[in-house]
Amino acid sequence: MNFILSGILWICIYLVLVLTPLLVLLVRPVPGGIGFWWDFSLALGFAATTMMGVTFALTARFRHAVEPFGIDIVYYVHRRISIIALFFTLLHPVLLFAEEPMLFEMLKPASMPSHLMAAIGSLVCLLVLIGCSIWRAQLGIEYDRWRFWHILLAVAALTLAIVHIQLVGYYVDAPWKKTLWVVIPASWIFFLLYRRLVKPLLIMRRPFRVTDLRQERGNAWTLVLEPEGHAGFPFLPGQFAWVSIWNTPFAMREHPFSMASSAEHPDKLELTIKELGDYTRRIGSVQIGERAYLEGPYGIFSIDRHQAPGYVLIAGGIGVAPFMSILRTMADRADPRPVQLYYAARTWEGLTFREELQQLEASIDLETVVILEEPPSDWEGETGRISEEILARHLPKERIKRCYFVDGPVPMMEAAENALLALGIPGRDIQVELYDLV
Ligand SMILES: Cc1cc2nc3c(=O)[nH]c(=O)nc-3n(C[C@H](O)[C@H](O)[C@H](O)COP(=O)(O)OP(=O)(O)OC[C@H]3O[C@@H](n4cnc5c(N)ncnc54)[C@H](O)[C@@H]3O)c2cc1C
Repeated sequence: MNFILSGILWICIYLVLVLTPLLVLLVRPVPGGIGFWWDFSLALGFAATTMMGVTFALTARFRHAVEPFGIDIVYYVHRRISIIALFFTLLHPVLLFAEEPMLFEMLKPASMPSHLMAAIGSLVCLLVLIGCSIWRAQLGIEYDRWRFWHILLAVAALTLAIVHIQLVGYYVDAPWKKTLWVVIPASWIFFLLYRRLVKPLLIMRRPFRVTDLRQERGNAWTLVLEPEGHAGFPFLPGQFAWVSIWNTPFAMREHPFSMASSAEHPDKLELTIKELGDYTRRIGSVQIGERAYLEGPYGIFSIDRHQAPGYVLIAGGIGVAPFMSILRTMADRADPRPVQLYYAARTWEGLTFREELQQLEASIDLETVVILEEPPSDWEGETGRISEEILARHLPKERIKRCYFVDGPVPMMEAAENALLALGIPGRDIQVELYDLV
């Protein structure tokens, strides 16, 4: 209930941030108005600008603000709002030119007024920014490079939009409105400064040391981190943190990893990381004693946020990491509730945590169903990929009373979610962790 109330509060704060600059425009003196479509088009332009500006607040990762929703949902909303802002930005000139065809004269490069140049610059930045975000993987843009340009283009798009508004001067012709429409956008940039300067400083005050590194099955490594000069990092089982190793948090090279260890031991964190790309392939070479910084914890993918009489956990590959935290925490708490773990992997030899899962079956009410894509010749268990048939064979009779968590590669998560829905599990009881934030 608390999270519902604080969720409503944060939505209200968001609406105030977006609507205040717009309402200010309606305070007298207000221009007489030229006609509905003309004024509507201006409203779209102003609305797009405030929506773009307030996205800096959405991505500032204010922990209390993202807590009720989960950060993956906040990023999802950020993406959707940016696309709506782009749509409004495109519609703004279309309506203006349709209403007043004489404006086409202004498009001649030789005589183009500077407010129009600023508007076109802003639109181009926005188009490149959103295009590169939607098709980043297809365009082969490396994540860190993409993020750097994403921020730069966002600041450029917003600055040029404000220059355009100021130069046109319509609706902001009163000096106090003009000033306000500089001060408010500057406050949006504050969110960016908070995220890029203040937050890294706070994170640096609570460093960690790598105290152990273990090789795991399936090209994965477990990194053990202990706090240096502070009590630790309280988290809920299933949550994740943004981790910086080899760099300070200022370097913008942090990666998200789930805590795999028990939430009952916040003074000794374990992250299990699968070798996948440039960054994760270097994890095996981390030196003991190396400094690390953690930002978080984030996420609502936790049994502590979704109380139920029992759980079903569905993992694909390294998606098992947050589930290890859940299972280890349940063991430490002597939690008697039943849990089923469906664990899809390629091979038996590469099944990360294979031995420990067998031990956990002895200490908590855990049943593990392993599904192998390339099973050994004497394998008698499930094969192939997670499917409705496999789930139907193993789910308990009281399946409707359980809460479901799904984590792994996107196609596997979609298949598992669809299978659960087909088996009559209500969508509200299915929690998914998005490993693919962008
Ligand atoms: C909430 C969450 C929890 C995760 N938990 C784990 C875990 O416990 N163990 C584990 O092995 N992996 C986990 N991942 C995935 C892990 O973050 C990526 O595999 C890793 O960042 C890839 O980096 P790379 O440079 O090695 O690979 P790349 O080949 O460069 O990246 C592969 C993909 O990972 C994503 N990615 C890359 N860099 C970042 C970044 N800085 N921030 C966000 N996404 C990025 C992008 O979608 C990219 O396309 C988690 C991801 C998320 C979102």
